[in-house]
Amino acid sequence: MTLIDTHVHLDQEEFSSDQQEVLERAAVAGISHLIAVGIGATSSEACLQLAGRHPQISAAVGIQPNYCAEAVAGDWERIVALASEPHVVAIGETGLDRHWDFSPFAMQQDFFDRHLHLAAETGLPFIVHTRQSDADVLEMLREARRRGPLRGVMHSFTGTESTAAECVELGLYISFAGMATFKKSDDLRAVAQEVPADRILIETDSPYLAPHPHRSRRNEPAYLVHTAECLAITRGVSFEDFCELTTRNAKQLFKV
Ligand SMILES: [Zn+2]
Repeated sequence: MTLIDTHVHLDQEEFSSDQQEVLERAAVAGISHLIAVGIGATSSEACLQLAGRHPQISAAVGIQPNYCAEAVAGDWERIVALASEPHVVAIGETGLDRHWDFSPFAMQQDFFDRHLHLAAETGLPFIVHTRQSDADVLEMLREARRRGPLRGVMHSFTGTESTAAECVELGLYISFAGMATFKKSDDLRAVAQEVPADRILIETDSPYLAPHPHRSRRNEPAYLVHTAECLAITRGVSFEDFCELTTRNAKQLFKV
């Protein structure tokens, strides 16, 4: 039994004191591979360094929508340069976020567009973050689809069944995080039940939003098993089959 955690923020300070122990617990829990996802140029470099030190880690490079306003001259060029490094397997995270008022929306759209173009140019998949912006994200994805086939993932998905269905139609994968295990998340589990078997992924999005029964604690990759157990039940398949399925999908998308 192995699992791939397709979205972790291991470079963040929450892990600065015990990163090695966190990775050891992940290995014990059966997490065979992790994608360390950058939120800015410096964070993306840190993710790449982690990937260089640990064979079980790959990196994604990008500027997360809430951090666009913090990006300084040259940061985007750093992302573009990082994108051709060997351990980089994805562009992101990118996307749109209306919940936090950290970056002007037009600026977020500009950066999202740049990431989508960079993904197309490099042939790498992209990782989409969306919060209260599903309609705007879909509009930009449709536009990108008109330019060519899309390869990417809607990360930590919390949207509706129709949004998920359109994303699948556009060529994307749908990834579920710890929120899917919360007691009140029946609607989200109903969405997870409908995602085609060859398009579902799971992630922790560590250190955020730990799954039940670790809710409100710092999240870490080892907790991915709880999300896998929950969604296996939701979909009426065995835990082993669900692990095998999502691992196969992650390998398919990220080529890890
Ligand atoms: Zn993230």
